[in-house]
Amino acid sequence: MVQPKYKRVVLKLSGEALAGNTGFGIQPLTIQKICKEIKEVYDLGVELAIVVGGGNIWRGAIGSEMGMERSQADYMGMLATVMNALALQDSLENEDVPTRVQTSIEMRQIAEPYIRRKAIRHLEKNRVVIFAGGTGNPYFSTDTTAALRAAEIDADVIMMAKNNVDGVYSADPKLDSKAIKFDELTHLDIINKGLQVMDTTASSLSMDNNIPLVVFNLNETGNIKRVILGETIGTTVRGKKL
Ligand code: UDP
Repeated sequence: MVQPKYKRVVLKLSGEALAGNTGFGIQPLTIQKICKEIKEVYDLGVELAIVVGGGNIWRGAIGSEMGMERSQADYMGMLATVMNALALQDSLENEDVPTRVQTSIEMRQIAEPYIRRKAIRHLEKNRVVIFAGGTGNPYFSTDTTAALRAAEIDADVIMMAKNNVDGVYSADPKLDSKAIKFDELTHLDIINKGLQVMDTTASSLSMDNNIPLVVFNLNETGNIKRVILGETIGTTVRGKKL
């Protein structure tokens, strides 16, 4: 059997990834497709934790622009991630993948509270753990959550799934035809060059804790497995200078 390169991974799925072409809400066929791919890597015996975003439903920044108090708007964003997590759980269980959702803000009737040791135990027992509610704090993002949880559970890598972007570019390839794609970078490069990969808090946390990141295109079928098997696709971002 093919050997996965990574034993324990954090897969970051943005809310947008669940929305399909519409950009809003949850598209059943889109989420099913992703979950079928997740099932394939689950079957390889990889310990998989998923951090899901909420941008397909609500972003704190939008509320803030509308004049809402920022923290209030951010809590709404955190709640949006819980809806996505429950949809993912449902879809994964339809694929016979055992899952647990853990929320950073307690909602005991619908999910477990986040407990690091329990999350690790679930992973060891081959359950996919879905982290919902972001960090539980306003002014943060689910990218930062991915970096934080990856450090906490000692993940080998963060897999940053992007929609229709196959890696990190010097500029937005949709707007600038001269944009070049990077195969390898460091977190410090990302911060210094101001590249749009994840927010600076997430990059600096990943840098400080030396967590590698693979940025790849989720929309190309089979890519989750390719990354897990160590194929060089997308952009690899490392903690230290190479
Ligand atoms: N959020 C937050 N704290 C966190 C994580 C998320 O306040 O630790 C809020 C924030 O308002 C954000 C929203 O939840 O806009 C959705 O998360 P994010 O934008 O990271 O989702 P994605 O872009 O990955 O879909």
